[in-house]
Amino acid sequence: MIQYEAIIGLEIHAELMTASKMFCAAPVVDSVTAAPNTAVHPLCLGMPGTLPVINKQAVDYALRVALALNCEINQHNIFARKNYFYPDLPKGYQISQYEEPLGVNGWLDIDLEDGRQKRIGIRRVHMEEDTGKLTHQDEDAAAGGLSGKRVSGERVSDERVSGERVSLVDYNRAGVPLLEIVSEPDIHSGEEARVYAMKIRQILRYLGVNSGDMEKGVLRVEPNISIRPVGSSAFGTRTELKNLNSFKALADGTAFEIERQIQRLTAGDLVIQETRGWNEHKKRTFSQRRKEEAEDYRYFPEPDLPPLFISDEWIAESRAALPELPDARMARYVNELGLPPYEAGLLAEERAVGEWLDTAVAAGGHPQSLSKWMLNELFRLMNEHKLGISEIQVTPAGLVELIALVDKGTINNNTAKDVLAEMFTSGLAAPAIVQARGWAQISDEQAIAALISQVLLNNPEMVTRYTNGEEKLRGWFVGQIMGQTKGKANPSLVNQLLTQKLAEWKTNGYP
Ligand code: ADP
Ligand code: MG
Repeated sequence: MIQYEAIIGLEIHAELMTASKMFCAAPVVDSVTAAPNTAVHPLCLGMPGTLPVINKQAVDYALRVALALNCEINQHNIFARKNYFYPDLPKGYQISQYEEPLGVNGWLDIDLEDGRQKRIGIRRVHMEEDTGKLTHQDEDAAAGGLSGKRVSGERVSDERVSGERVSLVDYNRAGVPLLEIVSEPDIHSGEEARVYAMKIRQILRYLGVNSGDMEKGVLRVEPNISIRPVGSSAFGTRTELKNLNSFKALADGTAFEIERQIQRLTAGDLVIQETRGWNEHKKRTFSQRRKEEAEDYRYFPEPDLPPLFISDEWIAESRAALPELPDARMARYVNELGLPPYEAGLLAEERAVGEWLDTAVAAGGHPQSLSKWMLNELFRLMNEHKLGISEIQVTPAGLVELIALVDKGTINNNTAKDVLAEMFTSGLAAPAIVQARGWAQISDEQAIAALISQVLLNNPEMVTRYTNGEEKLRGWFVGQIMGQTKGKANPSLVNQLLTQKLAEWKTNGYP
């Protein structure tokens, strides 16, 4: 039987978080919460006689991404018209880039689950504009009815003749700056596609140009998939998968499609070049439309826009303004802060988390204990309260202060966890909480020694059993002492003094 290998290239569309649209001043709004068709201007509605103006911020964001993905920058940029008709595209064409895209020949290293690293080529990064959004009534009905927020369900059903399809269009998204990132066909499985797409998302978030909210549609991933016999160098016919709204759907849909193509070729059928959708419920892909070729779009240079020249200075400034990217940050955490790679990876995952850690280290915190406290307690509290690190009341310096109280022996580790939980909800500083609650640890040697003597004197028969060899009773004594101090006795002091007292008792007998 012929062995096949999968060849996959990804097209990723990312909306840019600019204030206004790509070619007009209409605002960019949240597509889920904003009322439909409220963020529109004549230009993005396709009114005749309107003229586009390039959004500089969008170009700036696009340039950042192209540089972060190690692309060569085309200084001479041409926008092109991509002509096609669809109700979500009122102009009848999309302004995109075709022959001279902003960035070409880039790459991105991804870390696979088995520890291997792999370099994925980036074919091009280009600027374009998003389309409007269509909502088909029958799809909505299947998903549980029209959401009342977007359009009154009543109005729609009033107008609906029984059995008729109703489609709604929202032009808020029309003209929102969009970046297309096209990879080389260097990916070989659904899992690799998932890891690559997640890394792109992470970098876009680091650069502050896209929120990464796939459920809101601001980041959309489309894999092109083909298979070929192992050892062959020619490419097979590809299909393109659309409507993937999660990384899991990307991995699952790609894996399904590879398998479907293998079965077809094995059965002597051909793979048809087409666009396919992913049905999340049935866990299978389905044919949507035959793929159009580039010539169908009748691309030509956009006559309403001049060439966009990106100067050496602009590129240099952009490059200098790039933040430290995830790989570099993780390497720094391992090499300079001495963190284990796994912890470093988690802390570098999000830029805001990394910056929080950096601030805490700058405030005098010890990286290793900060890492433990952040990954265990702080992240647990953040999950519990569903808050991101930029939304919490605990400050980096506040955590450093808390850890210092543990190091000094003022409170023990367990109390510190309670203190942090209270810092989290009240915003108070650790010392204030410890003081108000009377949680300071008893580290007074004489006081603890006296307490231990009292416990031993009150329980002579337990002491006898202990000195006769029942060593596991030691924990019982510790429990008594901790109980009487409501857990506030300094545990290492308790242990040290208890050992001493029990030994004295054993040598000297009942005092
Ligand atoms: P189009 O714009 O028509 O979709 P592109 O040449 O821009 O075509 O390619 C789109 C994506 O498809 C790229 O990521 C590319 O790597 C990938 N690709 C091209 N040919 C194949 C193939 N035979 N199998 C899998 N992926 C492919
Ligand atoms: Mg394509």
